[in-house]
Amino acid sequence: MTYTVALTGGIGSGKTTIANGFASLGVPLVDADVIARLVVEPDSPGLKALQQHFGDTILLPDGKLNRAQLRHIIFQNQQEKAWVNQLLHPLIQQETQKQIQQIRAPYFIWVVPLLVENKLTHLADRILVVDVTEEEQITRTMQRDGVSRDHVLKILQAQAKREQRLAVADDIIENHDNSLNQDEQIKQLHQHYLELAQKSNTGQ
Ligand code: ATP
Repeated sequence: MTYTVALTGGIGSGKTTIANGFASLGVPLVDADVIARLVVEPDSPGLKALQQHFGDTILLPDGKLNRAQLRHIIFQNQQEKAWVNQLLHPLIQQETQKQIQQIRAPYFIWVVPLLVENKLTHLADRILVVDVTEEEQITRTMQRDGVSRDHVLKILQAQAKREQRLAVADDIIENHDNSLNQDEQIKQLHQHYLELAQKSNTGQ
């Protein structure tokens, strides 16, 4: 089994930026957000099951999933939320395993924003947390998405706290606005992960 390094962090912390740094060193990425979208693409079994359960109102005119509508439904109704999770969780797991099986590398980075919230820590061999202050998360997300401070604060409230993520971290990347050494941190971690993966694969 390929050694799994989970990369997590709060909204706007820089997960994508850091993951791309590993990718530029040749490390394969498996992205939980991409997979979550893949399993409800038009014509997928996932989207068909959602349509059967909720009716056509769950679709946009172009046949894609109406995410806002789904969010609205599950926000209001715990039972529906549980139903949707029971449907999508195995599909996401299946697709994740499929992607992992295709990997030919000593280790890969599993980009998983909601690692702590969805209690997935046991699925990783190693956990890397991208750490920034809440204020940095807020300003970056406001700038990137053109949204209000209140909007970001609501998302922050729904996510795990910085301390909860740091509590499960094996490694931490400091991705503050003024830190210039992210590339160096990535290179050092890459060497470390290659060694850990080799030990793990040879059973040492
Ligand atoms: P999300 O969870 O919302 O998808 P993310 O954790 O993947 O976000 P990125 O999209 O990588 O975060 O970064 C958020 C924003 O912050 C981007 O606009 C990115 O260019 C910027 N950013 C990333 N790292 C830094 C840094 N060290 N200094 C300043 N800005 C940064």
